[in-house]
Amino acid sequence: MIIMAEREENNAYVIRMRRHFHENPELSFEEVQTSRKIKEELEALGLEVKSVGKTGLVADIKGSPGKTVALRADIDALPVTEENTESFVSKNRGVMHACGHDAHIAMLLGVARKLVMEREKLHGTVRLIFQAAEEKPPGGAVDFIHAGYLRNVDAIVGQHVISTIPSGYVATYPTVAMANADEFRVHIHGKGGHGSEPDKAIDALLIASYFVNILQSIVSRMTPAFKPAVVTVGTLNSGYRYNIIAAHAELTGTVRTFDAGIRTKVRKEIEKLLGGLCKAYGATYEYEYIEGYPALVNNPSITAVVDEVATEVVGKDHVLHPDPAMGGEDFSYFTKEIPGSFYFLGTGNEAKKITSPNHSPTFSVDEDALKYGTEIMYRSSLKLLG
Ligand code: MN
Repeated sequence: MIIMAEREENNAYVIRMRRHFHENPELSFEEVQTSRKIKEELEALGLEVKSVGKTGLVADIKGSPGKTVALRADIDALPVTEENTESFVSKNRGVMHACGHDAHIAMLLGVARKLVMEREKLHGTVRLIFQAAEEKPPGGAVDFIHAGYLRNVDAIVGQHVISTIPSGYVATYPTVAMANADEFRVHIHGKGGHGSEPDKAIDALLIASYFVNILQSIVSRMTPAFKPAVVTVGTLNSGYRYNIIAAHAELTGTVRTFDAGIRTKVRKEIEKLLGGLCKAYGATYEYEYIEGYPALVNNPSITAVVDEVATEVVGKDHVLHPDPAMGGEDFSYFTKEIPGSFYFLGTGNEAKKITSPNHSPTFSVDEDALKYGTEIMYRSSLKLLG
């Protein structure tokens, strides 16, 4: 009975923390109050907390000598104006925990409490990583690597809440979990002119519209069918007025791939098509390709442990193995350094009308799922320590 009461008390703590951070969101690399609050909570548990970069934090929970396992939570919010109506909506207008990192912080604090309470069971060290700025490349993960906090760490586990998976379910990925997530920017320079005399001008708007179309042939004709790629044009701006030929056009877009070779290929093919098209019409161009986070590749044996633990916590039928997600995550830098696994915790709930996608102004999480995320992180760390 005591154990049950303790568990319920910890679940309530996690929800209380999640609401606190939800009310007080801060943007990437500006998580000053967030970081201060996390530090306070960890120090209250008697842990020594160190700063990493501007707003990141690390704390070790040490048991008897053994391995070291790291657990990671990201802590930043997004420039989104919240449209939810709960009592704990964002007090920082224009900033919102619209990706659920508030829940990630809260669950990792819950794990810390459990581990500290049961430190005598701990054979090894659990390193808690509270990472800044996941949402803003270059991201805060690299700071921990540069500061040496992954050295001699045997494994790392991270989780992400997601509304497209129902509460009570978990999704794990044995190898590839998320994509290379890159950005491109294009400027096309033509020659302006009167709308009635197109032969005396170079129509940047027309070239841009052709460009949007032929870009689609990269995936359909230039990359192998079994190596996935996405090329999306997100913006196209051009023109001044109905009877003026546009001198300039600007486009931005994103490229998602898993394979490093395909990533390079797509990057080059975009410029080849752009260059050829501009040459044919006498226009010039500028092309910028910005590499975002690399693909997130899990370690199969670490994932097997997470899978086993998730099965204990939510049941075999509730552990899903979907196709990789095309989103990006800077947890990928950690798994490039050491064996690790990143999984999704379902927090959607149709009955509670919690269905809005991550990053939307009405995004929310089913708080009843947080106990599963806390338990899976906690048990994964113990099991990985052996
Ligand atoms: Mn996120």
